[in-house]
Amino acid sequence: MIFRQLFDRESSTYTYLLARRRGAEALIIDPVLEHTEQYTRIIEELGLKLVLAVDTHIHADHITALGKLKQETDCATAMGAMTKAECVSVHFTEGEKLCVDGLHLDILYTPGHTDDSYSFLLPDRVFTGDTLLIRGTGRTDFQNGDPAAQYDSLFGKLLNLPEQTLVYPAHDYNGMTVSTIGEEKGHNPRLQVKDKQAYIELMNGLKLDDPRLMDIAVPANRSCGMRRAA
Ligand code: FE
Repeated sequence: MIFRQLFDRESSTYTYLLARRRGAEALIIDPVLEHTEQYTRIIEELGLKLVLAVDTHIHADHITALGKLKQETDCATAMGAMTKAECVSVHFTEGEKLCVDGLHLDILYTPGHTDDSYSFLLPDRVFTGDTLLIRGTGRTDFQNGDPAAQYDSLFGKLLNLPEQTLVYPAHDYNGMTVSTIGEEKGHNPRLQVKDKQAYIELMNGLKLDDPRLMDIAVPANRSCGMRRAA
């Protein structure tokens, strides 16, 4: 499998490029607008054909490249059925798969960080968006975030995956690139809570500043990054 983890330093976002092999059709997860050229270059260098660009959720901290990639490569764009981004060509739901030239990613609905957060699962790895981060979890204080829903997504879904499953989040702020479900169960401080109520209190007690680009990024991302906020 071809697997590339790309990084946006401004927003500490990870973007993932996946394909079965050189020359195959490819899929990209959480691309960042400013890096569109970098993506199209590496796609070309690897002889890939981009057929699908997906966001795990509507991001508040960067503008998505979904619209731009569609314009440049004619790929399909996809987000979950719960999203308010009507610009995408495909809306998926839990239980369906993202299928690209021999790659099949199972779709899990993992709300909490936002109400449109989804995770994508391959046999050995899971792309967790901002639901499960490395030694952290995505904030739940805007965009219909809900700590109770996030607790259910974590403890009812993601943490039930095999312990050796690799965890690839949408962000990391501490230089970490990958973890495993077992490692997060044991060492993620947000997950060492005794019950759902304790998790809700923990999340509601975080006093976080709004992301710098939030007022620009959220409206722009509802149009797949093709229209900036006025
Ligand atoms: Fe996010």
